[in-house]
Amino acid sequence: MTPPQPIEAIPAPATRLVTRLDRVPGLSPEDRRRIAPVAKRFRFQAPSYYLSRIRWDDPADPLRRIVVPDPREDEATGRLDPSNERANTVLPGLQHKYRDTVVVLLTDRCAGLCRYCFRKRLFMQDERECLQDVGAAVAYVANHPEVTDVLLTGGDPLTLPTDRLAAAALAFASVPHVRTIRLGSKTPAYNPLRVLEDPGIPDLVRALRARGKAVALMSHFDHPAELGPEARRCIGVFQEAGAQVFNQCPLVRGVNDDPSVLAELYEELIGLGVTPYYLFQMRPAVGNRVYAVPIVEGWQILSRARRRLSGLARRVRYAMSHSTGKVEILGVDDRSIYARYHRARVAEDEDRVLVLPRDDGALWLDELWDQEEPPEDDAAAA
Ligand code: SF4
Repeated sequence: MTPPQPIEAIPAPATRLVTRLDRVPGLSPEDRRRIAPVAKRFRFQAPSYYLSRIRWDDPADPLRRIVVPDPREDEATGRLDPSNERANTVLPGLQHKYRDTVVVLLTDRCAGLCRYCFRKRLFMQDERECLQDVGAAVAYVANHPEVTDVLLTGGDPLTLPTDRLAAAALAFASVPHVRTIRLGSKTPAYNPLRVLEDPGIPDLVRALRARGKAVALMSHFDHPAELGPEARRCIGVFQEAGAQVFNQCPLVRGVNDDPSVLAELYEELIGLGVTPYYLFQMRPAVGNRVYAVPIVEGWQILSRARRRLSGLARRVRYAMSHSTGKVEILGVDDRSIYARYHRARVAEDEDRVLVLPRDDGALWLDELWDQEEPPEDDAAAA
């Protein structure tokens, strides 16, 4: 593991949130004119720290691709709620899809806005979908002894003031049968200074650990170029305070759709003591098609990357977060795509193996159901 640097060794440039394209010096007037229409539909937002890491002389810079709009987002494809999260929402901002885990949308803010976001409805609609009543959500969890894991997400919980985040996390941790508090966050990539400058964050991790809870940071690094010295130190802050760190990210066209990039990302993460967890198939959210890689190609990319990786890094699962469950892609041959329910919404689907007809253009499970009977609730929803 890379030895942590002292926090003092990192200068703390002021980080601002940039929301106007004309405040991004790296974009030419022509760039701005081309992307202005899509930025009206799904707005642009990035921390100045992250923008400063973009190599603006390279139009294909991966960090640029993550936050700067692509005019092709305007294609009329995709859904606002591609995984049908509404169906699992038991209270505003509280989802209960899998028996043991609840998902809490603690905020509808993020440090930056990923162009491929699968929850962009949170940032586009007037309707507030995030948690309104922490007490009611904690009561729900307390009344469901099967719930052992609470995933605090959003939006990004690390954009909240630390006292609000701590109050919510400690309230969920007060439920005796809750074992693990997870924080889903891209802040370590977008704005690691937010953590480096606030001792309240490691204090919160320590407070949760002192209550006997496991703490997991579910980080979201898409590309090794996001692992700058500040991000590495940010990971170290969580680890030193007692959190486990896992990484999950989507496979994104133009960002990490290259075996050598994925292999480097996973090698770097393993070197930092971070466990690669999920590589997600791009969800068919509105505006996302331009960022999607077909399932078969995605499998081939990961398969080539895995050949370079040690066993520790090979723990990553290539999965679709489908309305019926997390469907892991296990392999592809001339005729079929082999998949398995890693998590299932209904108990009968747990561990069910799917043999699906190979379609090299398919981007999502729904396009492959022809010969395989969809589970009942999906058929009903169609
Ligand atoms: S960090 Fe997650 S929730 Fe926030 S914009 Fe990116 S994908 Fe969406």
